[in-house]
Amino acid sequence: MSLLPVAEALSRVLAGARPVTETLDVPLLDALGLVLARDVISTIDVPPMDNSAMDGYALRAAEAGQPLPVSQRIPAGAVGAPLAPVSAARIFTGAPVPEGADAVVMQENCTEESGTVSVTGDVHAGQNIRPRGQDIAAGETVLPAGRVLRPQDMGLLASVGCDTVTVVRPLRVAVLSTGDELAEPGTDALREGGIYNSNRYTLAGLLRALNMEFVDCGIVADTAEATAQALLDAAARADCVITTGGVSVGEEDHVKAQVERLGRLDLWKLAIKPGKPLAFGSIGNTAFIGLPGNPTSVFVTFCLVARPFLRAMQGVVEPAPAPLHARAAFAVARAGSRQEYLRVTLENTAQGLAACRYDNQSSGVLSSVSHSNALAIIPAGTTVDPGDAVEVLLLDALTR
Ligand code: AMP
Ligand code: MG
Repeated sequence: MSLLPVAEALSRVLAGARPVTETLDVPLLDALGLVLARDVISTIDVPPMDNSAMDGYALRAAEAGQPLPVSQRIPAGAVGAPLAPVSAARIFTGAPVPEGADAVVMQENCTEESGTVSVTGDVHAGQNIRPRGQDIAAGETVLPAGRVLRPQDMGLLASVGCDTVTVVRPLRVAVLSTGDELAEPGTDALREGGIYNSNRYTLAGLLRALNMEFVDCGIVADTAEATAQALLDAAARADCVITTGGVSVGEEDHVKAQVERLGRLDLWKLAIKPGKPLAFGSIGNTAFIGLPGNPTSVFVTFCLVARPFLRAMQGVVEPAPAPLHARAAFAVARAGSRQEYLRVTLENTAQGLAACRYDNQSSGVLSSVSHSNALAIIPAGTTVDPGDAVEVLLLDALTR
């Protein structure tokens, strides 16, 4: 079987992603990280009126060359009267500019004495006025459907008076760990030949960071019967089942055969390092993704293939982040046949971002992920010299 390029795997899984159609109305305060189900259209102009960008004096620019009596005082929240001819209004930041005024002069450039203000410096029409609707115009789309709400988006929605948003129901994702060697921290003693189940925790974190529901299905023993039962139970509880391990072709690897029996499955040898075996299919109406077992491979294949798939199911419009550029502070002497995702730390230098490679890149070494902040993408068939440009993906962009 020839190796499947990552980009090809990604376009195949995205083509198979059926977005969740159920929606929920949630208070805006609880909407962080959720996905807008509909465009939000503004019914108002923001700001709703021309207002002052400064503490100072509102006046007519053409009259600024002469001393002007101060005819009124307009604090934020108040509404002034139309500006009398040849006069100025004391005004404060955020207060509506009175009818007739066309400029605000900041108070540092004004002197007020016995109720009359004189200004220094040039004054032009429009100065220090924030025009009505300059942020958002009535009828404009404030944020589109498919948008993952960030903190600033919550503020933006509030600025148009929104207090409830319609979001896509968070995806339910079941996680099943395969392997007789696995011990659960805090529950199982570490027997001889055993290792702790780290994948369950990595995936719980990755899913919760995506604001998806982590449906914990524990560890399944390496037998055909246990695997089949666990897969059916998981499928009944979730929109997507993710397994780790057991998708190689060894006789202890039951996931592939059981998913094939219960639903449908494509098994790919991905041209990816770390990684390689990856299964994608369905059990009934539930999507299925079989990740490799090695903890670093789990992280990388989840971030590069499973995450965009899940985000597409969640209704997110842009499911995968775009890479940035950095300079390699390492060499790759021998070109590989798989696209490699090196765990690197980006450091700020005078020459720009430098990608420093973590020493041990073994797929079993999870420290390589914890002690890095990016993945450097090394395409198959390429060598790298120090100083060469490489594409990098920020882990922060992949883990939220
Ligand atoms: P497998 O694909 O099942 O052959 O697993 C590949 C490697 O990953 C083996 O060394 C497993 O012990 C290890 N592994 C599998 N699942 C987990 C897990 N949940 N946590 C930590 N290591 C795992
Ligand atoms: Mg196994």
